Amino acid sequence: PPKKKTKMSEAGSSSHGRNGNYDTGVSYHRLKEERRKLPIFPAKGKLINQIQRLDTAIVIGETGSGKTTQIPQYLYESGIHRNAIVAVTQPRRVAAITVAQRVSDERGQQLGQLVGYCVRFEDVTSENTKIKYMTDGMLLREAILDPLMKRYSVVILDEAHERTIHTDVLFGVVKAAQRHRKMKGIRPLKIIVMSATMDVDHFSNYFNKAPVLYLEGRQYPVQVYYAPEPQSDYVFASVVTLFQIHKEEPPNQDVLIFLTGQEEIESAVKTIRDVARDASGQMPPLMVCPLYAALPSQQQLKVFKATPSGYRKVIVATNIAETSVTIQGIRFVIDAGMVKAKVFNPLSGLDLLKVVRISKAQGLQRTGRAGREAPGACYRLYTEQEFEELKANTVPEIQRTNLSSVVLQLMALGISDVVNFDFMDKPSTESIVSAVSQLEDLGAVTNDKPPRLTPLGRKMAAFPLDPRLSKTILLAKDFHCLEEILSIVSVLSVDSVLFTPQSKREEALAARAKFVSSEGDHVMFLNIYRAYKGVKGNKDWCHENFINGRNMKTATEVRQQLRQICERQEIPIQSCGNDTSAIRRCLAAGFFMNAAEIQKESSGYVTLSTKKPVHIHPSSVLFQCKPSYVIYNELVKTTKCYMSLLGTSPSSLFIFGSDFIFNVVIAVEHYSILWKANIALGESLLLFCLLYFLQQLYPEND
Ligand code: ADP
Ligand code: MG
Repeated sequence: PPKKKTKMSEAGSSSHGRNGNYDTGVSYHRLKEERRKLPIFPAKGKLINQIQRLDTAIVIGETGSGKTTQIPQYLYESGIHRNAIVAVTQPRRVAAITVAQRVSDERGQQLGQLVGYCVRFEDVTSENTKIKYMTDGMLLREAILDPLMKRYSVVILDEAHERTIHTDVLFGVVKAAQRHRKMKGIRPLKIIVMSATMDVDHFSNYFNKAPVLYLEGRQYPVQVYYAPEPQSDYVFASVVTLFQIHKEEPPNQDVLIFLTGQEEIESAVKTIRDVARDASGQMPPLMVCPLYAALPSQQQLKVFKATPSGYRKVIVATNIAETSVTIQGIRFVIDAGMVKAKVFNPLSGLDLLKVVRISKAQGLQRTGRAGREAPGACYRLYTEQEFEELKANTVPEIQRTNLSSVVLQLMALGISDVVNFDFMDKPSTESIVSAVSQLEDLGAVTNDKPPRLTPLGRKMAAFPLDPRLSKTILLAKDFHCLEEILSIVSVLSVDSVLFTPQSKREEALAARAKFVSSEGDHVMFLNIYRAYKGVKGNKDWCHENFINGRNMKTATEVRQQLRQICERQEIPIQSCGNDTSAIRRCLAAGFFMNAAEIQKESSGYVTLSTKKPVHIHPSSVLFQCKPSYVIYNELVKTTKCYMSLLGTSPSSLFIFGSDFIFNVVIAVEHYSILWKANIALGESLLLFCLLYFLQQLYPEND
């Protein structure tokens, strides 16, 4: 309601720089006072002295002590920046924007002048900007054009404990820039690594034994409450807990709720607003603010507005509010114990964004948010035993994600010698080498030393997928079956869409028999996807057909994203209708590395690339059929080595797909099939033409 709005802006901290009429009077002096009260303030002199003398420093301090907002200003005030720019990186876009706004307010200046920010699609800086907040991804992009980072005198790597791929890569890039500048006698580059909590020794060792500077924190005790039993619906539990607090505690003690993403947050916000409206008059009013990355910046800034007197502010946030932004007035934290994280799925070879449990370190950080200004309380929506079972720390993203896509990403960033790249936690050399060689086979990189990205590789890098799958998507254009390939890849990208309870196995298989195809699992997935779309995702239909509706829904969302990337690359999106041979050709062309041939003497198969004995997994629709040639998505090792998620190749002679010139060269090199026969390239092409001719004569081989 508008009334509330006026009240809020009266109580708000200051007007915004961007609308031009900046009020430098009262709020500037008030903010100056606030700055002096921060825990970091008494340490200013000593801190600046130490930083002045060091090339690289590691600064550790509680969230809210003033690292992010104050240290860049201290550097500026003491002239350490030597009139060049101080860059401060943030893993999150939201943090970069809101902190820049705050610091600009504290300087009594318009945003984009002395203090600015730079995130994807938005650059709010000018030639006057000396303190620049930016996402780590943006600084990486800049580094591609200027590896020495000559514009900057200081680079502050903030929130280092988050260990996103971008931060991890930046560590190496910034370190190299510092060394090269020293060698070339260019003005030195100072590096400051900042964080709330982290494995300090590990960081210090990586940064040439850089000293660690600890900041005094201020933390009041927080009472922790656990759920008596595991919660199946933490969104609902969080709303119930909120209203318990709201009923019992006086207003103006704000609540911070941690959920995992936009959808959950919006649904919780709606429920909270509905309940509050129904109970208006019986309870003090609530001011409910969502906070997640995709929220428009102006709405993100709302969470920092002071709570009007008599109200209670409720912030429903993702892990953004864990360490990267500090909100005043929080006395209660409700922690669902979950977070959205990128997880590598070895079965499909894909990175998935999945809701997983937080680490203990994250749980402790969340709890700490309740005790910044006074003693507080934290309600964990999980049991004490569940807390004890959490992992101690979050595994760095670089060790969680598919390496061949990381390598492709690095090369797209201009880092070609990936093996010798100075990683903080290096993935094993073999895994990098094999990732590079896989990319070479796919035509994404050249076989120079060091390898270079090809135009095809650059296109592939745009997809957040296993490179084999992005290649398949790009190949689909030639087979006129992109619509179908997008559906199949999306289903492969999520957890299994088949729901097969042990007790109802027969029933489930019978219900799904209509989708089964002798052409393989991929075609079956396509049939399921089409049927699901046909009934508009009807829940009863999913239930009757033993299809996991939730995973199907995720698949449709993934498909939407992949489709957008195709549109951006201006790839024509065509359908091949019921011509499944086009789909199978396309899959065979993308997954030619994962091909296997049946052994005449036994019922087993051998892989074409490594001659490894393999078997068809019993869960595959091809388990009974046993076609001569198959392609598979993944090898699963139990008692035997099984191929799962299979498709048949349209023809035994056509296993390498009809992208034939490219693939025959790969085939020659990769499988040494023709190599052993010692044929020159011209002859091998001739032979291939012969094979192609035979393929036309015997088009099917099922
Ligand atoms: P740290 O980086 O050590 O976690 P910050 O420098 O981010 O701490 O925050 C210091 C203080 O500045 C916070 O306690 C908070 O009160 C205030 N602050 C930070 N950002 C904002 C903002 N956007 N609006 C209002 N206050 C803010
Ligand atoms: Mg900070």
